[in-house]
Amino acid sequence: MKILVLNSGSSSVKYALFEDDKQISNGLVERVEDHLATIKEILGNIGKVDAVGHRVVHGGEKYKNSVIIDSDAIETIRDLISLAPLHNGANLAGIEAVAKLYPDITQVAVFDTSFHQSIPDFAYTYAIPISFYEQHKIRKYGFHGTSHKYITNEAGKFLNIAEQNLNLITFHLGNGDSVCAVKNGKSFDTSMGFTPLEGLVMGSRCGDIDPQILIYLAKQKGLSVDEIDKILNKESGLKGICGSSDMRDIEAKAQNGDKLALLALDIFAYRAKKYLGSYAVALGRVDGIVFAGGIGENSPLIRMKILQDLEILGIEIDEQKNQVRSREPFEINTENSKIKILVIHTDEEKEIAKQTMRLAGDN
Ligand code: ADP
Repeated sequence: MKILVLNSGSSSVKYALFEDDKQISNGLVERVEDHLATIKEILGNIGKVDAVGHRVVHGGEKYKNSVIIDSDAIETIRDLISLAPLHNGANLAGIEAVAKLYPDITQVAVFDTSFHQSIPDFAYTYAIPISFYEQHKIRKYGFHGTSHKYITNEAGKFLNIAEQNLNLITFHLGNGDSVCAVKNGKSFDTSMGFTPLEGLVMGSRCGDIDPQILIYLAKQKGLSVDEIDKILNKESGLKGICGSSDMRDIEAKAQNGDKLALLALDIFAYRAKKYLGSYAVALGRVDGIVFAGGIGENSPLIRMKILQDLEILGIEIDEQKNQVRSREPFEINTENSKIKILVIHTDEEKEIAKQTMRLAGDN
C-alpha cells in the first residue's frame, strides 16, 4: 500500500512517501502560498497513492484517535481553527487540496492531541472558573502526541513490556519540547497545555511562567497583546536567555565559557528535571525514561544534566553508554539503575503512515 504523509504548515508543506511501513522518499516545499498548487505538484511528481495521512494539530475533545476524513471531520477541524489558528487552517488547506485533486483517495487525519485525550480531568482542568472550560473549552490538550505514542510503542517493544502495563516518562526535546507521563501505555499527563506554550523551556517559547507577568507587562509596561504573544512565543526560551535557540550553538558557546549559554543549559535541564520528578510521583512506578527529538536523541550533555544526581529515584546514567549514537533504540542506564533510560529515534511520519494504513486498509 502506498501512503503519502502530508504535514501542511502555513508556509511550508513537508511530505513523506511510504510503501507499507517503509519510507521511500520525502521532501519539503517552502514559501508555500497556494496549497492546492503545491500539493498538485507533489502528487504529480510521486504518482498515484492509495491513501493520504495528514498531520492535524488540534483534534479538540472529539478525536481520541485518528479518523478517516469525511465532511463531518472537515467541519470539526474547521471549528477547531480558533484553538490552533496557525496550524489547523493550514492542515485543512492540505486536506481540501487533496480532496479537490483526487476526490476518491482515502484521507486520514492524525491529531497531535489525540494521544493525550486519556489525561484525567484533575490533570487537564485549570484552576480558573469552571465556566471557561464549560463554555470555551479552555483546558490542557497537550501536543506532540504522535511522537509520544510512537516512542511509547517502541519502548514497549525494546523493554518487552506489554503496553497496558507500561509506565514511562517520555521526553520529546526538539525546537518545541514536551514531556509525557505514560501510565499503562496511555498519556496520563503532559507538559504542554491549552497551547504548545506551556511546560518545558523551548527554543524560543518560555514554557511555564507566572501568568501575572503577562498582566504586569500589559499594565505597567504598556505592551499590547500582540507584543506579549510575540515575546512569549518567539523571543523567549533558550533564545530569550542567551540569544540562540539552537542547542548545538548553545552547547558550543557554553564550551567557550559563555555565561548566558551556560545559564540557558542549566535552566533548560532544571525545568526538565522538575517535570521528571513530578511525573515519577504522579505515576508511582516508572519502567523507563525515554529521550527523543533532535536534542533528546543527540545531546549526551542535556541527558546527563537532566538525569544526574537522581539517586532519590534510583536513576543511574552510564556515562559511556550515554555517548552512543544510533538510530536504533539504545539503553543508557547502568546495570544498577532502578529505571531504564532509553534513547529512541522518533518518527512522526512513520506513525502517521501506520495509522493511515490501519484506517484506510479497513475502509
Ligand atoms: P523540530 O522540533 O523542529 O522537529 P528537531 O527535533 O530537529 O526540531 O530538534 C532541533 C534541535 O535539536 C535544535 O535545537 C538542534 O540544535 C538540536 N540538535 C540537533 N543535533 C544536536 C546535537 N548533536 N547536539 C545537540 N543538539 C542537537
